[in-house]
Amino acid sequence: MRRYLYCGSMKDLEIKDYDVVIIGSGIAGLYASLHIDPYLKVALVTKVDLKTSNSYYAQGGIASVIAPNDTFEGHIEDTLVAGAGLCNEEAVKVLVEEGPENIAELVKLNVPFDTNPEGELMITREGGHSCRRIVHCGGDATGRETTKQLAQIVMEKENIDIFFNTFLIDILSEDGHVTGAVVSGSDSTQFILRASNIILATGGIGYLYKYTTNPRAAVGDGVACAKRAGAECENMEMVQFHPTTLYCPEYSERLFLISEAVRGEGGILRDSKGVAFMADKHKLKDLAPRDIVTRFILKELEKSGDTNVFLDVSSMSDEFFSHRFPTIYSECHKLGVNVPVDEIPVRPAQHYMMGGIKTDLNGMTNIDGLYACGEAACTGIHGANRLASNSILECLVFGRRAARHINEAKRQKSRITLPDAPDFKGAASSDEIEKDREAIRCCMSEKAGAVRTVADMTAGRNFIRSLCDKYEHLHLSEKDAYEVCNMAETALMIFDAALARKESVGAHYVIG
Ligand SMILES: Cc1cc2nc3c(=O)[nH]c(=O)nc-3n(C[C@H](O)[C@H](O)[C@H](O)COP(=O)(O)OP(=O)(O)OC[C@H]3O[C@@H](n4cnc5c(N)ncnc54)[C@H](O)[C@@H]3O)c2cc1C
Repeated sequence: MRRYLYCGSMKDLEIKDYDVVIIGSGIAGLYASLHIDPYLKVALVTKVDLKTSNSYYAQGGIASVIAPNDTFEGHIEDTLVAGAGLCNEEAVKVLVEEGPENIAELVKLNVPFDTNPEGELMITREGGHSCRRIVHCGGDATGRETTKQLAQIVMEKENIDIFFNTFLIDILSEDGHVTGAVVSGSDSTQFILRASNIILATGGIGYLYKYTTNPRAAVGDGVACAKRAGAECENMEMVQFHPTTLYCPEYSERLFLISEAVRGEGGILRDSKGVAFMADKHKLKDLAPRDIVTRFILKELEKSGDTNVFLDVSSMSDEFFSHRFPTIYSECHKLGVNVPVDEIPVRPAQHYMMGGIKTDLNGMTNIDGLYACGEAACTGIHGANRLASNSILECLVFGRRAARHINEAKRQKSRITLPDAPDFKGAASSDEIEKDREAIRCCMSEKAGAVRTVADMTAGRNFIRSLCDKYEHLHLSEKDAYEVCNMAETALMIFDAALARKESVGAHYVIG
């Protein structure tokens, strides 16, 4: 793996000084930035804008112990069961026990949670949860409403500079400490953000796959940058596939999610003959953990040769469905699916990354001053499979912890020694880069999907290795080339981890 993607002379780059650099403006990055002490100068860097993130698209809600009949022990137990023995129990305890105070903080920040006529938070249920414990906004628009409100507050903060359309290229480090980030700005000018505290909140990897619920920006940039800088990554083989995305015969860059909350409110999966096939497969039936439901759907599809199964939502009235799930209602109607009368055609697709940059309970990596939080991080709370709606909670709990740790660490301004320009020759054309991007996406979908074989994974790894070798010494100068290189490096980490894990566990399911 090359150390830097940046190919020019770093010594010629302008240096901008900050106390803290946060990469990513999803809920993890926004919430962390709000917890940095106001006398510290923060640069918040985002690849596109404040709407382009997995956070913005989140539907179902945020899990937390709110109901009087719920307990921390119950939430911990459900998280551990979904994680199939690979969770870090200490991290799960922190996540669950600090959940309610973070939800209370969002309420104070005026995030518009749905409430009942008595003004209490409404709570729903999703797969793998033994109790109702998911708070939500705008029915099924939790991510949009939360992101909008946090972004509004962040934009008013005088200590935070936001760099839109700015791309993280490399992380700089020296003697085990982080020293800065090389970025490419909105006018493609490249510069260095020098800081002794950096938080990577760069989100997931969905766009490594052909069929995903994630936007195009989710290519694992942060994970690849961290790895090049020497940060440890773990559980990279644990990729979650969501059982129910809206099936549409035409290819769509980002598949529309049908939230698990729809099954939480009574939706039932049926095959094309109308059989409720989850009824006898698991004690939680349609609300079994995601990997299990996904695999049973894939089995049904293999058996029947159909393109999709169906989600029967006819137990809900039109009034209830349109109020409870306004975004899903409108998207289905746009495609001619007259919910709740019509069944919704659904099939699984890539959705979430459980692994990522390994952190401790303060969100710090093995490099001093380099933190990761949100989907890019592996705190260990998800283990082999994420419990529904635990991911935004993780963004909040560990984003706040990372910020507080930075506030207390009081690190000195970093010394920075910049490397000489490498002598790389040869570049890939734009066409070739796009061809490689699509080849990675096809390879990942075919060889590192929800059901895996050693032969497929070996072939996939060999192909991705050859792409990494090709990019190892190429002169790169454009965002697309940096991205494809990051995609190949991240894909290689996934295959390496998948081949190293011999047994089937959670989302890593190997049949031969
Ligand atoms: C459709 C959908 C529905 C979901 N529903 C739920 C739900 O109901 N509940 C739940 O808990 N979870 C849900 N999830 C998962 C959850 O939304 C995400 O895991 C979580 O929001 C991730 O937040 P994040 O801040 O870590 O990353 P993101 O929100 O993905 O933000 C990543 C940020 O990093 C930036 N970035 C990436 N690379 C670079 C780079 N090279 N340079 C600069 N910036 C970069 C991106 O532009 C973006 O701003 C859902 C996910 C999807 C896709």
